[in-house]
This record gives sequence, structure tokens and C-alpha cells, in this order.
Amino acid sequence: MITVNGLHKKFGPLHILKGIDLEIKQGEVVVVIGPSGSGKSTFLRCINLLEEPTQGEIQFEGESITAKRHNINKTREKMGMVFQQFNLFPHKSVIDNITLAPIRVKKMEKSKAEDLAMELLRTVGLEDKRDAYPSQLSGGQKQRIAIARALAMEPHVMLFDEPTSALDPEMVGEVLDVMKKLAEKGMTMVIVTHEMGFAREVGDRILFMDQGVILEQGTPQQLFGSPRQQRTKDFLGKVL
Ligand code: ADP
Ligand code: MG
Repeated sequence: MITVNGLHKKFGPLHILKGIDLEIKQGEVVVVIGPSGSGKSTFLRCINLLEEPTQGEIQFEGESITAKRHNINKTREKMGMVFQQFNLFPHKSVIDNITLAPIRVKKMEKSKAEDLAMELLRTVGLEDKRDAYPSQLSGGQKQRIAIARALAMEPHVMLFDEPTSALDPEMVGEVLDVMKKLAEKGMTMVIVTHEMGFAREVGDRILFMDQGVILEQGTPQQLFGSPRQQRTKDFLGKVL
């Protein structure tokens, strides 16, 4: 579904991503771990071209999205992204937050968009919040709405950048449960997280990023059970 070849990203003189190669298959759940500053967010943001790669190619569903004449807006519709900060529209109700993009961008009929939104609210367990405003929701609820909003565009892949890092500990589980459900339904997902229990349970593959490269990768069992690189061992020693 996604192929990354020789991806580099520089910010001025800072060389942040130093040659990333990766293939992600449909239905795969790839979890990215690694120290702060290693380039995990930059990598995710390059996948949907929120950041422009300095060098290298990214293909999505067989098309080169880094090619000059590629229409990135069409591709972005197929990639849902969820951030650490929920970025809900504060002056819009939950249902309006969720239906906005399908109506405006996909020209979906309002009634159809609302039916879809209600179905998604059931998926994230927040049917009763359809008319609430973001300020009336807890952090965990906001993030579940942000996930529903991303899903409303019916994306082919979901990218998550530390979706639980801004949450109080008691709310982490409810968000991870929603993500787990998505994974079980076969959604292709790339997830940056520090939740190692979740990574081990839900990830098909774990990537360990360090200093702008994928230093090592494998199944959860391989990566957590018998890491090969010393830096992976050191990192896991601190977080497990
Ligand atoms: P991680 O998500 O693994 O913590 P990031 O991808 O956010 O790492 O950042 C990697 C490095 O790139 C950091 O040193 C960060 O300061 C730098 N960086 C990220 N975005 C920018 C930017 N827009 N301009 C300059 N430097 C940036
Ligand atoms: Mg980050």
C-alpha cells in the first residue's frame, strides 16, 4: 500500500531523516517507536506530505505521490491522521466536526454524512455526544472524536502520532481500545507511540527509529524479546 524509497528530510542544515526504506502492506499495523527527536513525527508527516521530502520517493497504492504533478489533496483524503493535540473545531458540535470534511471535500449529502457520523460515534462509543461541544468533553473523548472525524473521510490508511501522549493516564485505555478495534477490522495503520504494551499486542511490525533511520525492525516478539542493536536495548531498557 505504501512504499518509501530512500527518504531524506532536511530542515535547512539539519539532516533529520537519513534514508528511510519501508513497505507497508494493506491491513498491516506498523508501530514506530524510538527516542524523542529521532524523526518519528517528521517521518509520518512526510508520508502524507505535510512535510515535503528533500529526497526520495513515496508511493501510495501504486502511485508516486512525490512526483511533481501528483495531486496531493486527493491522496490526503485517503490518509487519516490523528495528532497528539486533538485539533477539533472548538465552535462546532461533535456531529459538525465529523461531517464537515465529508460534506465540503467529498460533497457528501448532509443526511448521508450524518448517518456515517452516527455509525462512527457508535464505533468510538460516544453516540450520546453528537450535540456536545469539544469544551464539554474529556481529553479521551476528544481524541475518540478526532479519530471518528478522520474515519469519516473513509481513509485507506490511518496515521497516528502519539495519540495518547497528551492524555491523563486514566483516559489512555479508552483511546487505545478504539485503535485496537480499528486494527481488528483490518485498517492499515502507522502508529507512533510510547505505549509499549499496546505496540506488543496490536502491532504486526515494530520499527525502532533512531537518529533519522530505522535502526531495526521486526515482529513485536523479535523486537521486544531479542533486540539486536545496543541502542534498541538501551531504549527498551528505559521504557519497559
Ligand atoms: P520525534 O517525533 O521522533 O520526537 P521529530 O520528527 O519531531 O522527532 O523531530 C526530529 C528533529 O527534527 C528534531 O530535532 C526537531 O527539532 C527537528 N524538526 C522537526 N520539525 C522541524 C522544523 N519544522 N524545522 C526545523 N527542525 C525541525
Ligand atoms: Mg514526535
